[in-house]
Amino acid sequence: MATSLQRGIQAMIEQIDAPMATFFSACVHCGLCADACLFYTETQDPKYTPIHKLAPMRRVWQQEFTFWGKLMKKLGLSKPVTDAELAEWEPLVYDSCTLCGRCSLVCPVGNDIAYMVRKMREGMVASGHAPDGLKESTRRAIELGSPMGITIKTLQAHFKHAEQETGLVIPLDREGANYLLVLSSAEVANFSEIIPAVTRIFHQAGVSWTMASDGFEATNSGIQIGSSDLAAELVGRIVKAAERLKVKYVISPECGHAYTALRWEGPNLIGRPYPFQVVQHHRTARPVARRGPVAHRRHGRHAHDFPRPVPDGAARRRDSPAAQPARYGRTKFCRDARCQHTELVLRRWGRRQRQPACR
Ligand code: SF4
Ligand code: SF4
Repeated sequence: MATSLQRGIQAMIEQIDAPMATFFSACVHCGLCADACLFYTETQDPKYTPIHKLAPMRRVWQQEFTFWGKLMKKLGLSKPVTDAELAEWEPLVYDSCTLCGRCSLVCPVGNDIAYMVRKMREGMVASGHAPDGLKESTRRAIELGSPMGITIKTLQAHFKHAEQETGLVIPLDREGANYLLVLSSAEVANFSEIIPAVTRIFHQAGVSWTMASDGFEATNSGIQIGSSDLAAELVGRIVKAAERLKVKYVISPECGHAYTALRWEGPNLIGRPYPFQVVQHHRTARPVARRGPVAHRRHGRHAHDFPRPVPDGAARRRDSPAAQPARYGRTKFCRDARCQHTELVLRRWGRRQRQPACR
């Protein structure tokens, strides 16, 4: 029977696809990614350099996929990856990376380091080197339906308060609605005012919406811990609810992991395309709240058609093909890590474009 270390190394080998191999071999060790990572800029400790967080997986790639690496391994000239080493890397791969993607944006050779960290977590979780807190929240997500232990009963209690406050009914399991709203349990637990706020906005806008009793949680703990199987199970719940209710759109909160899991990784995780579209919450709610339903309707467009800045700090890279040109331009981040502003000088369609910075 394979040990947990062998399972972890095997999982890493399985995760090394063409982009991963290209990224490892393309790295020129310039260190530019360090200046983009808040863990490095706040500590100036070289161990927080983004590409360094992948060192064990890089060695697995060398030993298993490159000629010289294989030869050195055969001759006993390269160090095998050990359990102790993976244990040492656990805080670097989990606690010291938010998967924000700032490093991916600045890498001059286009290495998507956030993608690589996400892949390395598959090996870490298979080897048993995931943080206990994350293991526990993933267990709650699978068994109870939410990483914070929020159940549909808890949510219904919040609905009751919101209905008393707004005088409006919060639709649950309404078949044929246009929009299915999913929320992150952190929002429900810490910012429960979001429920009456959304109810009012959608009511004013005349939006046909619902929530689902069997697919209300947006947070994907499977993505956070790095397990594709668990991530697929959690995405599948939302997809099943959306299909059961025959909605046209699923509204994801801004949470970078939730949106990334549902919008970009989801179809690959479940192995088929969705019969609905995934939109971010600000794309539906903000234009309605700012311009009002009259202006919204006058334009004759769906709210999410309005171009808007994307404010999700946890996924600065946006995971969107539209954001990819940024990786080939000069990028300057605001020095304040909490600030969302980025100054980009993009080369698109042969023209230089400048996006505003905060200072
Ligand atoms: S910025 Fe890119 S090329 Fe430079 S060290 Fe980081 S990953 Fe390697
Ligand atoms: S994804 Fe963000 S937190 Fe993770 S290494 Fe890159 S810059 Fe640092």
